[in-house]
Amino acid sequence: MNYQYQIDADRCKGCGLCVAVCPKKVLELSQTNNSKGYFPAYRAREEDCVLCGTCCIMCPDVAITITPIDNASAEK
Ligand code: SF4
Ligand code: SF4
Repeated sequence: MNYQYQIDADRCKGCGLCVAVCPKKVLELSQTNNSKGYFPAYRAREEDCVLCGTCCIMCPDVAITITPIDNASAEK
């Protein structure tokens, strides 16, 4: 099973909670602001992400989603 990891930059308010809790130090806040003027989180070290879901659980704005990708249906 593969997973798609996504941060909705325009939902993010740049609080940094996800950055603080990530056990692999994957996340950082962007230098570029989003449409609301906040600096959103992004996976600066994507290759280190273990898809543990801690950042998703912590985010008060539900800006982070990890979605299973159904390979079987994708191949049909
Ligand atoms: S899923 Fe886990 S390892 Fe990946 S960015 Fe979120 S907290 Fe870090
Ligand atoms: S916890 Fe959510 S709102 Fe806060 S910086 Fe991370 S993605 Fe953005």
